[in-house]
Amino acid sequence: MKFFLTTAIDFVNSKPHLGTAYEKITADVIARYRRLAGFETHFLMGNDEHSQNVFKKAAEQGKDPLAYCDEMEGVFRDVWKRLDLSFDDFIRTTDRKRHFPAVQKMAQACLDNGDIYEGAYEGWYCEGCESFKPEKDLVEGLCPIHKTKPQWIKEKNWFFRLSKYQQPLLKHYADHPSFIEPEIRRNEILRLVEGGLEDISMSRAGQSWGIPVPFDPTSVVYVWFDALINYAAAVGYGWDDEQFAKWWPANLHVVGKDITRFHCVIWPAMLMSAGLPLPHQVFGHGWVYFKGERMSKTMGNIVDPLDAANKFGPDPLRLYLTKEIPYGGDGDFTWERFEEKYNADLANNLGNLVNRVASMSERYQQGRVRSQATSGALAAIADRAVHDYRAGMQVHALHEGAAAAFGLISAANNFIAEKEPWKLAKSPDNAAELNGVLWDLSEAVRIAATLLLPIMPASSSEILRRLGDDRPIRDRRLESDASWRTSGEKQILNAGALWPRIEAEKGAVHVSEESQKPAEPVTQAPPPAATAPAAPAAPATITIDDFAKVHLKVAKVLEAEKMPKSQKLLKLKVDAGEAEPRTILAGIAESYEPEQMVGKSIVIVANLAPRKMMGIESNGMVLAASPDDGKAIVLNAEPAAPGTRVR
Ligand SMILES: [Zn+2]
Repeated sequence: MKFFLTTAIDFVNSKPHLGTAYEKITADVIARYRRLAGFETHFLMGNDEHSQNVFKKAAEQGKDPLAYCDEMEGVFRDVWKRLDLSFDDFIRTTDRKRHFPAVQKMAQACLDNGDIYEGAYEGWYCEGCESFKPEKDLVEGLCPIHKTKPQWIKEKNWFFRLSKYQQPLLKHYADHPSFIEPEIRRNEILRLVEGGLEDISMSRAGQSWGIPVPFDPTSVVYVWFDALINYAAAVGYGWDDEQFAKWWPANLHVVGKDITRFHCVIWPAMLMSAGLPLPHQVFGHGWVYFKGERMSKTMGNIVDPLDAANKFGPDPLRLYLTKEIPYGGDGDFTWERFEEKYNADLANNLGNLVNRVASMSERYQQGRVRSQATSGALAAIADRAVHDYRAGMQVHALHEGAAAAFGLISAANNFIAEKEPWKLAKSPDNAAELNGVLWDLSEAVRIAATLLLPIMPASSSEILRRLGDDRPIRDRRLESDASWRTSGEKQILNAGALWPRIEAEKGAVHVSEESQKPAEPVTQAPPPAATAPAAPAAPATITIDDFAKVHLKVAKVLEAEKMPKSQKLLKLKVDAGEAEPRTILAGIAESYEPEQMVGKSIVIVANLAPRKMMGIESNGMVLAASPDDGKAIVLNAEPAAPGTRVR
């Protein structure tokens, strides 16, 4: 059985944010679940590069658009790696070997089928959306998403005869009720298509950035038509028939609810026109709201998903997004809630269970537990949990899958309270019963960790390793690994806390120090060398109190640009773990290109009085080693999180 799933491909004009990460993480959970369930799985992600916004952004930075896209690919891949995403393939729409031939083949196939014709287009065009907006969709003349006034554009376009597919689409939805999920999205799409479809523009005239229309080299394929084809292009359409036959149609497209329309209406119509089978399902997930605001790259309200993943590893964030937001609906992310769930689910529930089972096994039986016929109460709960988990995961109710695994974990903790193994341990007469209790617990932990592999791959693997099973994730199977065992033996490793509790301190997220692995020293005594020209006099000794007046902390560079008319200054926007990013001017332009600085974790003087330079207020100072005759070397605070105190 094969399972081919995809996510939306991302515009690369800004870095991934929590909203983007949410989609990729949940799709990754589905992909990992399918592998665990024994499917031959192909998980595709990618970048959407033929966007005018990408082209503009590259131009703003004085870069060749393709070079800019190459760079951004690295940025995206780095984020995805930190989130432990297990995609099998990553496609870019500038891929000339795979994507260009696919787009040209499909455009030609639609033309040959009589579904593409030439016309002129006039209408409101929103640059943020990169799409034409029907008058009725505007709110007081503005794009409802971007709150900006669209442009009135008139140009020669090639049109795709979408109107022709109204009835075939409605028939397809009726014949395949699970084609669109969840139900709320299906109803929206049904209403939309029943209301009638208009033909849509599939080309843009007079642009250079894009894939040439095969029958009209003066036009490029419109970015949406281009982008959708990536799903077929990646698996061979137009360049490898054998591979394409193996993987197409896709089993699942995971997309945001804002672009469900493109995937449930335009894309299937294009496929019908080109004579290709339709994907089995499109799942339109909801949005994650951070402090009540929708995150959007165009609105600049960005939360770096790495803030949580850098600090706690990817798994607590993956768990939160999977378990706390019913998949398909909208949800909230707040640091308060994240911290609360981290402490409840990980520190107190799962982490505590793993610790207790390991330490009791070590203390009472030198870590060795043997199978034994037992009451079976926990075994029955585990069977039920596996059943509920599968039922949820099969229909992408990821939150139900996660809840089923945590139900088993809670039951195992209750089982400890009920059986009181420490009392059994007091008398050798109870040795067999004690071993039975520990065996049951170890089985419950093993099964819960197996169920959580798709959601928290690294930590679940670690738990299984501590239970004496260090096989790679891809060798594990739900069928054999999530069934209760009544024979065998385990050597259990007691290896310390997995998730130390987070203690809240003045609203900041902060891990209690006694239990956290030792932090890397951020810097050795930071040199007083400033990047601003003021050269310090030979320092006399100062007291620790004097030093304590200087508030040093870690900041992450979000944006960097050259200051016009300045050889030395870079203008940095940094995240110092505060409510708002800061602007700091740093005299490092002779040593660093702006793009080298973006993403760096640096050390700043946070309590320096604001200073105005060249009309811009600088809030703080960047610490750098400043050799007398050399170039400044900015102190590297990797991997400390923004806001970490340096002392
Ligand atoms: Zn818009």
